Amino acid sequence: MKHTFFGGVHPSGGKELSLAADIRPVEPRRVAIPLLQHIGAACRCVVSVGDSVSLGDVIGVPTGLGAAIHASVSGTVRTIEERPHVGGTLVESVVIENDFCGHTRLLPPLADRSGETVMQRIAEAGIVGMGGAAFPTAVKVQGAVGKADTLIANGCECEPYLTADDVLLTTAPRQVLRGLELLRRAIGPKRAVLAVEDNKKTAIEGLRPCMADFPDIELCILPTRYPQGSEKQLIRAVTGREAAAGELPVSVGCAVFNVSTCAAICAAVEEGRPLTQRIVTVSGEAVARPGNYRVPLGTSFRDLLEAAGGLQVTAHRVVSGGPMMGLSQTDLSVAVVKATNAVTCLTQQQSGTGDRCIRCGRCVAACPMYLQPLYLYRFDDRPRELRRLHLTDCIECGCCSYICPARLPLTERFRAAKRRMKEAGA
Ligand code: SF4
Ligand code: SF4
Repeated sequence: MKHTFFGGVHPSGGKELSLAADIRPVEPRRVAIPLLQHIGAACRCVVSVGDSVSLGDVIGVPTGLGAAIHASVSGTVRTIEERPHVGGTLVESVVIENDFCGHTRLLPPLADRSGETVMQRIAEAGIVGMGGAAFPTAVKVQGAVGKADTLIANGCECEPYLTADDVLLTTAPRQVLRGLELLRRAIGPKRAVLAVEDNKKTAIEGLRPCMADFPDIELCILPTRYPQGSEKQLIRAVTGREAAAGELPVSVGCAVFNVSTCAAICAAVEEGRPLTQRIVTVSGEAVARPGNYRVPLGTSFRDLLEAAGGLQVTAHRVVSGGPMMGLSQTDLSVAVVKATNAVTCLTQQQSGTGDRCIRCGRCVAACPMYLQPLYLYRFDDRPRELRRLHLTDCIECGCCSYICPARLPLTERFRAAKRRMKEAGA
């Protein structure tokens, strides 16, 4: 049974820009691989300047909550230094000069596929949530065992412009389903669902004939609506359950994994491939050749945009991710990390902002978390008011900014206010 969720918007897609082309490979001369690509602590570097590395060699090991980091090309370690990171900080990064020899070190394919060994393999392969959250997947799986009765693979990809998951589902549906099946066996839920929005027609056509080989997995086609891909809204849409503010999906018996994460699990178990590359959508009206690219982690945004033909007009805003939830970037030397699903380049017309609320109330009707964005905006420098208005429940989905006729930068202001409150320990 399909349910729905409160609020949400129907942003104009922009998806057609990047959908048509094949997935194109990117081969950078250098990569700068950040040792922090997950929620948790930065990894400890285990290589030195001058070392030769093969693709797949471990270069960083977790020091707490985290996931291993591997070389994404073969070559020589040139420097290890702090570099700008998509998250807006400086992060220690391993710079490898690509020798283009393609020497690769894989893990042995996994014969024993019990839950425990699959979990261990997910950790060894450094897999994290690839939909944007970057939470270490092995830890998430462990937390779901015995607690989640519903497992959901998230193939909604509801952000405008983004098509990386769509092309993955179109080109490798069985890899996604085999990864989901491995998760199903590891977690042991009563129900396993692959959720896809109904705008992914080609992907759905390709998935339907595959489903007969996966009798324990249900294909759930949901009406297109933003932010359906957000965990809480997806759980509500698939199960009708609602996690309370601040609670994890497992509190309502659910575990959600992005479809790219499922495919990465399949590659790690069946082929012994650690997570060293991913599909990234490069799109937006400012890009010369929008499309989907297979990108070694650590590739700079500059090199990636060059591979996409560069910018045809000056980009007013370059975003890591989509225009609704993505993070604006000012330095194109930042690197593609495990959670980078897109680089979106917007023109001034697409990203212009205004400055005065006309109190129309549309943001209130659109907010899927039942918040009052107009008041959050008005009091964004008053922590006490922000607490009263439950700013911390904001999932930064961008619906309010999208719907606002005054084009106020609501979500950006909320993100900054949350960061200030966190820093102040509020
Ligand atoms: S949508 Fe924009 S203009 Fe309308 S009430 Fe909300 S903040 Fe004000
Ligand atoms: S207030 Fe937060 S959760 Fe609500 S619509 Fe705006 S960004 Fe989304």
